[in-house]
Amino acid sequence: MRQADALLITAGAGMGVDSGLPDFRGREGFWRAYPTVAKLGLSFEEMANPHWFAENPELAWAFYGHRLNLYRRVEPHPGFRRLLEVGGRKCNGMFVFTSNVDGHFQKAGYPDDRIVECHGSIHHFQCTRPCTNEIWQATETVRVDEEAFRAIPPLPRCKCCGALARPNILMFGDWNWVANRAESQHGRFDAWVEELRAKSAKLVVIECGAGTAIPTVRATSERIANTMRGLLVRINPREPGVPPGHLGLALGAAEAIAAICSSR
Ligand SMILES: [Zn+2]
Repeated sequence: MRQADALLITAGAGMGVDSGLPDFRGREGFWRAYPTVAKLGLSFEEMANPHWFAENPELAWAFYGHRLNLYRRVEPHPGFRRLLEVGGRKCNGMFVFTSNVDGHFQKAGYPDDRIVECHGSIHHFQCTRPCTNEIWQATETVRVDEEAFRAIPPLPRCKCCGALARPNILMFGDWNWVANRAESQHGRFDAWVEELRAKSAKLVVIECGAGTAIPTVRATSERIANTMRGLLVRINPREPGVPPGHLGLALGAAEAIAAICSSR
């Protein structure tokens, strides 16, 4: 960490668990967070599917409205700010690559143009049809009847055509996700990596809570660490395995970050 002059933070769902966000691991984990969905017998993959916006908008928006309200209410744990402080001192800068849609890196003070949200963001909406490629910042409050697990109308609407709006999140079986916001983020990230390569920068990758179920984040950490000949530090209490030459810590994100950032 001391020797590095650039920091890449990669993060999956495990990063948010220490902030108090629910762990969706497995059916049981998901159903503990959403008991009403358990009664419907729907898995996370089945619930996080765009067809509900057409078939049952109030159910679709109960799920995403509840998460929107939760992510707005919950504060990111101190590990976010600690890594931001460390990264802010690196002469070749920092970047975040996350599959989390909760917007918590921005909430913790990270600059928006230094973040890739590879699965999109719940704080941005798009049209369900979609009538245009426009993505806009979510300002609406979505009220949810938690008992019945129904969103209470009026539901968010497309600013352009008035059809139902949806979060700009990449869902399962999703052919209508508008990708241009994520593509711009990827473009800035690729340019930064290219710049690091040109300068032969010394990179450290800190990966927090990224599982093997959807391996995008883990694969990105390994790919960038290898191409940059940097060090990968994988923080994961259950799946800390790393390729040879890298470092795995079987710890939770907040605890591991506190330990790493306090050691001198
Ligand atoms: Zn529209």
